Amino acid sequence: MAADAEQIIAALRASGGRMTGPKRAVVTALVEAREHTTAEDLAAAVQRKHPDVNESTIYRNLHILEDLGLVEHVHLGHGPAVYHLREMAHHHLVCESCGKVQELPESTLRPLARKLKAEYRFTANPRHFAICGRCEACE
Ligand SMILES: [Zn+2]
Ligand SMILES: [Zn+2]
Ligand SMILES: [Zn+2]
Repeated sequence: MAADAEQIIAALRASGGRMTGPKRAVVTALVEAREHTTAEDLAAAVQRKHPDVNESTIYRNLHILEDLGLVEHVHLGHGPAVYHLREMAHHHLVCESCGKVQELPESTLRPLARKLKAEYRFTANPRHFAICGRCEACE
């Protein structure tokens, strides 16, 4: 699941994106984030290292990175969305009872996505929302 901040920054440059300090700081914070990170957590992480960067700049850059397709948000439940680097994207199983989150590789839902495309002409984006249910412990 490791992605390298420098690699992503290089890809961003190669695609013609301007790599400003705040963008670099947001990418680095996403690479370093261990837990699922909301925009608010991310802003706090960036500001710990770069107290001079204000919150609105961080949010703006997060959305620019999302528009560029380098960052994605996911809804794990009723709370605020969490953010991932596209390179580190995966699917989520969320337990409705205890809130436990499990990660699945992207390949897991590929057969379903293929079926939806073939039979319903629907291009699914199963990464946007988690799959809800019950974990083993709560069953
Ligand atoms: Zn995740
Ligand atoms: Zn559970
Ligand atoms: Zn959304």
